[in-house]
Amino acid sequence: MARNGKNGGINTRLAHAGNDPRAYHGFVNPPVVHASTVLFPDAGTMAARKQKYTYGTRGTPTTDALAEAMNELEGAAGTIIVPSGLAAVTVPLLAFLSAGDHVLIVDSVYNPTRRFADSMLARLGVEVEYYDPLVGGGIAALMKPSTRVVFTESPGSNTFEMQDVPAITAAAHARGAIVMMDNTWATPLFFRPLEHGVDISIHAATKYPGGHSDVLLGTVSANADCWKRLHDAFITLGACAGPDDVYQVLRGLRTMGVRLQRHQESALAIARWLEGRDEVAQVLHPALPSHPGHAIWKRDFSGASGLFSFVLAGGGTREAHAFLDALRIFGLGYSWGGFESLAVDVSLADRTIAKGDYPGPVIRLQIGLEDVEDLKADIENGLRAAGGR
Ligand SMILES: *Cc1c(COP(=O)(O)O)cnc(C)c1O
Repeated sequence: MARNGKNGGINTRLAHAGNDPRAYHGFVNPPVVHASTVLFPDAGTMAARKQKYTYGTRGTPTTDALAEAMNELEGAAGTIIVPSGLAAVTVPLLAFLSAGDHVLIVDSVYNPTRRFADSMLARLGVEVEYYDPLVGGGIAALMKPSTRVVFTESPGSNTFEMQDVPAITAAAHARGAIVMMDNTWATPLFFRPLEHGVDISIHAATKYPGGHSDVLLGTVSANADCWKRLHDAFITLGACAGPDDVYQVLRGLRTMGVRLQRHQESALAIARWLEGRDEVAQVLHPALPSHPGHAIWKRDFSGASGLFSFVLAGGGTREAHAFLDALRIFGLGYSWGGFESLAVDVSLADRTIAKGDYPGPVIRLQIGLEDVEDLKADIENGLRAAGGR
């Protein structure tokens, strides 16, 4: 369907992936199709469901446009579009796990993923086990005959541990398990999991693809082996997304390349600057040479997005709150990937393995599209307040 740009550079592909203006009278963008019912021309066609679209839950030209764009970006056989990033985690886990199965989940996982595993997967009879994000090929020792899924997220949520994804996929596949990856941080611009052996790549499209903090959406892209089972589960669960949200994300994709370039540059500039500050013990950003996962990042990733953390040199909750309360440009709020900068005091209370041994509170920054000098001045105020000055 996509006529243009398949072989072009990333920004060319982002500009043209997933729609064919000639299919819609030349309009540049695909229509936003609001639909439940789709009409059939006659009873025979209806009985055989022998036409491209049959019902709103099963896809529309709008969802197809985004799915095709994601297929191109991820190198996937198929993509489902679901109503949130969290649904993009839960739907594939439900698709591939059954009672009696064992799932290995990285300990630095996005917290709501852990909550889903510990509550619903456990209740359904799935054995849930967490592993060290730095395990690499050592995951082989944790595999059981019943291990069906290895769930990865790299870098890890909030603490940015880099996982050796190729080593993990090789070990998992050797023992008959599939590998899922939450690839939200890198976006398909900076990491293409399926090319590194991952079977299912997950995105909170809420973040950079949406880009404006005004929409919730998730995408799940599968390789050829896993596509049918993923798609069947999606249809069975009825977890379809609304057309306006799907359209918003497709719209966001068009500018994601230039936005990410800016997020990347600004975040790195601020991370480097923070590394030189006395009030800061450590900066957790995989593109910094000082980061323990830097070699893996450099080997596998082609860029870094705008989210990282730093560790205050000493102090606790009081200092962390003083830092946050002094900020005027950074907002205090969850989520990330939008145009505006955000800060959060990170809780590692859910960790069982990757607790780190940080000398002070961990603060996560989402670096938005504002001017770097203004952001630095804001952070400087925060650091001064945290130091009681
Ligand atoms: C935000 C996020 C999600 C969930 O996305 P929502 O759209 O907010 O549900 C999943 N994984 C990661 C890594 C995230 O940061």
